[in-house]
Amino acid sequence: MKEIKSLYEKYVMPTYTKTPLVLVKGKGSWVWDDKGKKYLDFFPGWAVSGIGHCHPMVIKALEAQSKKILHVSNNYYNELQARLAEKISHHSFDGKCFFANSGAEANEAAVKFARKFGHDKGKFEIITFEKSFHGRTLAMIAATGQDKVKKGFEPLPEGFKTAKFNDIDSVKKVISDKTIGILIEPVQGEGGINVVTKEFMGALRELCDSKELLFILDEVQSGMGRTGKMFCYQYFDIEPDVMTLAKSLGGGMPIGAMIAKRAIADTLGPGTHAATFGGSPIICAAALAVFEAIEKEKLLNNVNKMGKYIRDRLDEFKFKFPNIKDVRGIGLMIGIELAVEGTPIYELCLGNGLLINCTQKNILRIMPPLTVNKEEIDLALGILKDALRYET
Ligand SMILES: *Cc1c(COP(=O)(O)O)cnc(C)c1O
Repeated sequence: MKEIKSLYEKYVMPTYTKTPLVLVKGKGSWVWDDKGKKYLDFFPGWAVSGIGHCHPMVIKALEAQSKKILHVSNNYYNELQARLAEKISHHSFDGKCFFANSGAEANEAAVKFARKFGHDKGKFEIITFEKSFHGRTLAMIAATGQDKVKKGFEPLPEGFKTAKFNDIDSVKKVISDKTIGILIEPVQGEGGINVVTKEFMGALRELCDSKELLFILDEVQSGMGRTGKMFCYQYFDIEPDVMTLAKSLGGGMPIGAMIAKRAIADTLGPGTHAATFGGSPIICAAALAVFEAIEKEKLLNNVNKMGKYIRDRLDEFKFKFPNIKDVRGIGLMIGIELAVEGTPIYELCLGNGLLINCTQKNILRIMPPLTVNKEEIDLALGILKDALRYET
């Protein structure tokens, strides 16, 4: 630990708040540090290891593909990219995909898509929401509805307007004759597990239809089964025009994807956008294995069952601990809003072998792998309960 920490201090830029743990191994809901201590991971890499660490089907796919070819230039065809695009479309809506390497890049691609789509009509503005989070590139910090990510990086790219989440009138107020799209997370993750209402989603869809705007969903965190449906929008009887994915899509490997409805999908023609690494066979093999695991192991069922189990237990906590202001979420994307700061509770949990997350200073975020079981949940909630008892 000491040596690694000093290497970091000397050679790695200090862009992250760090927990003093060196993680060396992971399996399912568990990770191990360099001293052999194991931790229950209820926030696996910001949901990147969504189906658990080192899922056997992902590992098997990676091993097999690594013996064939790792990367193929996008100027050639690669079967796995085609199969993955088909898979994403079959599970969401009829359309075409573009592949990148991260969430921010997938969202950048969506914004470029919208700009190209509106260009000839002079439309380029995108409406996003307070407390949203869309990534850390310059355009995405401009899109993100939180000042903390923008400070110090001005001037920012223009063309983004902010509206209030779950408030259709505030969206109508910022629409202009230059607006081309609305970009929203169905569940705000970093913003503190705020879930859209069905009414709001319906109203946004109607608004986009009547004003000819693109309805763009950022499902980077809420997608791939996290909420109990393959994609969260499927709860709301609507379909987006464009959707972005990343985080758990690659089962631990870096990938981002944007899918757009077939009728408009050829908006970005040859030469208009690219990502050198995007959709390489080794990464697509992992992503295909993630879909296969979700299907074969019936993980959506498990998310619904385990999500309900956790929520019932947390509702009991709410009676016991007056400092819990709210418990909310959907499926296995759960937030606990506290009347006090969450960091001490995060630290107590860490000390007792449980990894969770604290966002917006006072909201604990719990997102166990889709494969989690009751015993692991009981263990985790026991640790959390002790921490809450101590701190509140
Ligand atoms: C994490 C996240 C992003 C950014 O993804 P990166 O891979 O870090 O670029 C964008 N949108 C949402 C909703 C996210 O949770």
